[in-house]
Amino acid sequence: MTDTCRLCKGTDLEPMIDLDRRPIAHRLLESRDEAEDTYPMALHFCRDCGLIQGLDPIDPEILYTDFNYNFSAWKPEPHLEDEIDAIMAQGPFANAIEFGCNDGTFLKALADRGIPVCVGIEPNPVSGSMARDKGLGVYKSWVNKGVCDKIIAEHGLFDLVLSRQVIEHVPDLDNFVSCINRLLKKDGVLFLDMPDFEPSLLVGDCSAVWEEHVSYFTEPVLRNLLACHGLEITEVRKYDFSSGCLAVIARAKESVTLADDGETKRVMDLAGAYGGAVRGFEAGLREGLARARAQGAEVVLYGVGVRGCCTLNGLDLSGLVDYAVDDQPERQGKFMPGCRLEIRPSSVLSEGSGPVVCLLAVNNENEDKVEAKIRETADRPLTFVTLCSPKDINIPLAALGRAGDAA
Ligand SMILES: [Zn+2]
Repeated sequence: MTDTCRLCKGTDLEPMIDLDRRPIAHRLLESRDEAEDTYPMALHFCRDCGLIQGLDPIDPEILYTDFNYNFSAWKPEPHLEDEIDAIMAQGPFANAIEFGCNDGTFLKALADRGIPVCVGIEPNPVSGSMARDKGLGVYKSWVNKGVCDKIIAEHGLFDLVLSRQVIEHVPDLDNFVSCINRLLKKDGVLFLDMPDFEPSLLVGDCSAVWEEHVSYFTEPVLRNLLACHGLEITEVRKYDFSSGCLAVIARAKESVTLADDGETKRVMDLAGAYGGAVRGFEAGLREGLARARAQGAEVVLYGVGVRGCCTLNGLDLSGLVDYAVDDQPERQGKFMPGCRLEIRPSSVLSEGSGPVVCLLAVNNENEDKVEAKIRETADRPLTFVTLCSPKDINIPLAALGRAGDAA
């Protein structure tokens, strides 16, 4: 456990929320009584720079190396085209390198748009070989000075350095941004995207507080991090994808502008109020679920991905939920880590006739599709309650008190 800020090395770290110990969200259990390891999960924010962070990250060797998974293969990304357009508008580029290229989907799309040399760094061997199968050059490594020097020796410096949904996982931010600068040509372009934590701060959502993420960015804090390394953000795009996505384009500048002080103060104030916002949501949800159950409603979690696990275990809601449903067949028949809810196919919802409260733990962009599908097959009173921002998760709580009325 560290006591200094990952960004500015300051020591004035303010506790935001303590979500107790919990297991790794991806590791579903084969049986309800299977043993599992748990890890502390708490957030602090730095009163000097505003970075929201976990101070006790799980060893990456435990988190990443003995477990092979691949995200982008099963996560549709509707904003991908817009990001590619934003990048290509900064070109032309003779070459590009992606830190954490995963299965190569994004890098291949850039190659298809005419960037002649596209190279990736990827520590996960399964994802990396999928990227290689797409014809991309991939270095199997974590991001470090050694691999950068090897890449420079083989390819020279790069017009475009990019990284998507990686920087929030990185324990050593200085190393990461230094490696960007090491590979980037003097007039080169940097593209970064990452989860935007501001929507979660605004509504008290803890579904994005995930053990794999060690830093939780907001726009002004990211601006100041890059400024510390001589990089200035020249364009910002935000998407309502997942818990919120923050994408930026930056370039090296002789004299870099810092974020507006008022903006930095605003996100620090939100960080200071976050713990209370989460506990307020939790109290409303507990009260509403207890009332719905007392009126005879069954309570079901839909979606056992990271966000569902983080909310169920973070708020310790297992005693208020009957079981979980998920439409990925490989998850069915298993048990959620921590709360140990059984995972069933959503077709079980068509079997009963009593009222059901369905807690939606899917990204907002998929909720309408899920709701329509369940309404089509389950002929019983249904109440849907989202657990995930960017929507305001506090608004649907009012519907919970009425969930049993329809019975
Ligand atoms: Zn700091």
